[in-house]
Amino acid sequence: MEKRVLVLNLDHSPVAVVSPQKAIVLLMLEKANCLSVYELLQIRTVSRSFEYPAVICLNNYKNIPFRGVLLNRVNLFRRDRGECQYCGSRRQLTIDHVIPRSKGGKSNWTNLTTACHRCNVLKGDKSPEQAGLTIQTQPFKPTLAHFLSEYAERQAEEWLPFLNSRLVQ
Ligand SMILES: [Zn+2]
Repeated sequence: MEKRVLVLNLDHSPVAVVSPQKAIVLLMLEKANCLSVYELLQIRTVSRSFEYPAVICLNNYKNIPFRGVLLNRVNLFRRDRGECQYCGSRRQLTIDHVIPRSKGGKSNWTNLTTACHRCNVLKGDKSPEQAGLTIQTQPFKPTLAHFLSEYAERQAEEWLPFLNSRLVQ
């Protein structure tokens, strides 16, 4: 599988994960510097070959739009470690609106949590307190750095020095 490239902003906070082709373009346009390479790999084109970047750093904040972590079912379950946030069950997982939609609750990182089918039915159209449930972790919006260091199975060893100190932004 093709290895991906971690993109850091000027302040070294991770902003994106891109294809090696995209990274090469950024490097050739001098919009980014290469900080780390995959040592045993090369990228070949018809006319030449390049070192395969693992981590690049942007020279300007505006070169790439911030992408963050996509809010979807898989990523939400990952954030919550595949556990119902009310009872800890790992079975029949669903997505729960902590503040119900009918009460104006939004579908965003800070109002969605992982709940098993049983707790979701029990909770129904109520707040956790009204339903007598305690939420284990308040839903939060993960930063890309947090997500990459905690969950991404596609992360590369070469990225680790750039992720560890960046869990909170
Ligand atoms: Zn549950």
